[in-house]
Amino acid sequence: MRSYTLIAPAKINLYLEIIGNRPDGFHELAMILQSIDLADQISVRSLSTDTIRVHSHHPQVPTDKTNLAYRAAELMVKEFPDSFARFGGVEITIDKHIPVAAGLAGGSTNAAAVLVGIDLLWNLGLTQSELEELGAVLGSDVPFCIAGGTVIATGRGEQLSPLPNLDNIYIVLAKYRSLEVSTAWAYKTYRQQFGSTYIKDTASLIARASAVHSGPIVRAIANKDAADIAKKMHNDLERVVLPEYPQVLQLRELFASQPGVLGTMMSGSGPSVFALVESQQQAEVIKQQIRTTIPNEDLELFVTRMTTHGIKIASSV
Ligand code: ATP
Repeated sequence: MRSYTLIAPAKINLYLEIIGNRPDGFHELAMILQSIDLADQISVRSLSTDTIRVHSHHPQVPTDKTNLAYRAAELMVKEFPDSFARFGGVEITIDKHIPVAAGLAGGSTNAAAVLVGIDLLWNLGLTQSELEELGAVLGSDVPFCIAGGTVIATGRGEQLSPLPNLDNIYIVLAKYRSLEVSTAWAYKTYRQQFGSTYIKDTASLIARASAVHSGPIVRAIANKDAADIAKKMHNDLERVVLPEYPQVLQLRELFASQPGVLGTMMSGSGPSVFALVESQQQAEVIKQQIRTTIPNEDLELFVTRMTTHGIKIASSV
C-alpha cells in the first residue's frame, strides 16, 4: 500500500473587503490571501477496506464526517468511483500545528491536501484547475490552499488570480487557544451593522466590484515592499470582531506598539492576529515581549513567514 505525506500550509488575509451579499447567501468578497510556513502534515494511505478513516490527536479536530478532510475524501470517492473500487479506502492522519478555528484556513488546507493526496494515490493526474474546482465544492478557501502563494480571491473567495509571490517576510502570529469566533456570526453581524449591499444581478456586481479598494495594496505587493504592504492591509471584519472580543483588540494594540512591527491585522474572521515585522530576529524579540506582557498559557504565539507554495509532497513510501 502506498502512502504520501503532504505539507499543508495555513493562510493569512492581507486584505478582506466585503463587496456585498449575493442571492446565494454568500458574500461577494475581495481578499488577498497569503500562504505562511506554519503548516499541518497530512498523511494519506490506501486501505484494503472500502472505508475512510481520519486520525488526529488534536482535541478540537473531529475525526468523523464533520472533518473537512473526511469530506474531501468522500468527494473523491463520489467523483471517482472506479478508482475507489480499484484502490480501496483511504486512511488520513492529521498532524495539527495550525491553530484551530483561527481564521487561518486550517480545515481548508487539510481538505486541499487530501484532494492532492488521493489524486496521487489513485494516479488520477488531475490538473491544478480540476483540483481547485473540486475544492470549491468543499469550501471557499479550499481552492486557494491547493497552490497557495500570494493570490487575490474574488467571488465568494474561490475565483483566484495570482499576484507576484511574496516570501521571507516575517510574521508574528497570536491566537488564544480557547477563543473561537464563528465565521457565520462575523459576516451576519457585519451585514446587520453595516448593511452590506445586496447584489442581485451582474450589472450591480460590476458596479460594486469596480469600487473595490485593493489597488494600493496590490501595488505594494507588486513592489514587494513589506512596509508598504503592512500599511495598506485591511480587514472589514475587524469592525465587528474587535468591539466584541476585547482580547483580540488587546493583541492588536499590543502588536501595534512593538518596535519593529510594520503593521498588524486580524486574519479572516479571527480571532488570530498577526504582525508583519522587519526581520526574523525582531520577530523573536516581539514574540518574547508579548509572552512577557501576557503570560497566559492559553495564548499561542508563533514566528512564521510568508511562503510561495500551497500543498507540497514531504515524502512518499
Ligand atoms: P477559515 O479560515 O477557512 O474560516 P478556520 O481557520 O477559522 O477556517 P478551522 O481551523 O478550519 O477554522 O476550524 C473550524 C472548525 O472546523 C473547527 O471548529 C473544527 O472543529 C472543524 N474542523 C473540521 N475539520 C477540521 C480540520 N481538518 N482541521 C481543523 N478543524 C476542523
